[in-house]
Amino acid sequence: TSTGLFDTVKNRIAGREPAYVQAVDGVNMELRENQVQGVIGESGCGKTTLLRTLIGLYEPTGGELLFHGQPTSEFTKEEWKEFRRQVGLVFQDPFNSLDPKFSVRRTLAEPLEIHGMDYDLERIEEMLESVGLSPADKYLGRFPNQLSGGEKQRVAIARGLITEPDVILADEPASMLDVSTQAEILNLLNRLTDEFGVSMVYISHDLSTVSYICDEINVMYLGRVVEKSPTRRLLAEPKHPYTQALIQSIPIPDPHYERERATIGGEPGDPINMPKGCRFKNRCPERMEVCDHTPYDVPPDGEDDRTVACHLYYDHPTGESAKQEDSA
Ligand code: SF4
Repeated sequence: TSTGLFDTVKNRIAGREPAYVQAVDGVNMELRENQVQGVIGESGCGKTTLLRTLIGLYEPTGGELLFHGQPTSEFTKEEWKEFRRQVGLVFQDPFNSLDPKFSVRRTLAEPLEIHGMDYDLERIEEMLESVGLSPADKYLGRFPNQLSGGEKQRVAIARGLITEPDVILADEPASMLDVSTQAEILNLLNRLTDEFGVSMVYISHDLSTVSYICDEINVMYLGRVVEKSPTRRLLAEPKHPYTQALIQSIPIPDPHYERERATIGGEPGDPINMPKGCRFKNRCPERMEVCDHTPYDVPPDGEDDRTVACHLYYDHPTGESAKQEDSA
């Protein structure tokens, strides 16, 4: 899919023309049954826009969003309703994503009502038990201000699953929690995706949480997926210089393990004036001449489900030889 959004508010208030931002550009993703796919990147890389496109809030300006093989652009009103039932959401901020006036029982009953499903107290209780809020009757009458951050996120996950979705879209669901609660929530999501047989797209800026939970990772930079790979191979053998830098910047909590922790120097490019050629060139230690003028519009299909958008690994249109051959 590719999406163009525009920064209207600031510009219109200032009386200027709206500036168009290609927030997501040429992204191809296929989520398979029971698969967990991660999307990782710095803030501003387009992952939130991608998520909003995946839930149908934004219409792609090019390309298509297919659900069970059917383009969402052809959905009827009823099909959109069914789509919203089948795609559960878990947001980043459990402190604001729950309505403070709703008890836990009402929070879980509301999606059933919206989607025309029968109110089922037994199902609500089972769902609370599944997310570790046990005994369920202790939690039913509680309000968000009577729950810890981790308990709120468990309620939000239960709400996302109560309509029996095929897919969960999770937007940094652990990032606002303390470290031990983060681990609990990740383990819970891991278990629930298996137990309920749902697929998940997990979006985060934190490579360690994404690599813990995801089967496959899409690394995004300035609106594009620059590398896509099964998780183990990405960690063992990162190919794109941006992925390599992300992995180098993960702290290792072991005083006996010596490794220089790298930071990614320079500033990300301006999405309103996208750099010509490779979008990562200003920060890339491997930059070559060809990188200045020739972008990789769409990463070519790689072997073993890997793709990497970088001149280091492929012959490029100018015919100059790449610095390094793809050996994988
Ligand atoms: Fe670096 Fe060139 Fe690869 Fe971009 S295309 S990541 S500048 S080597």
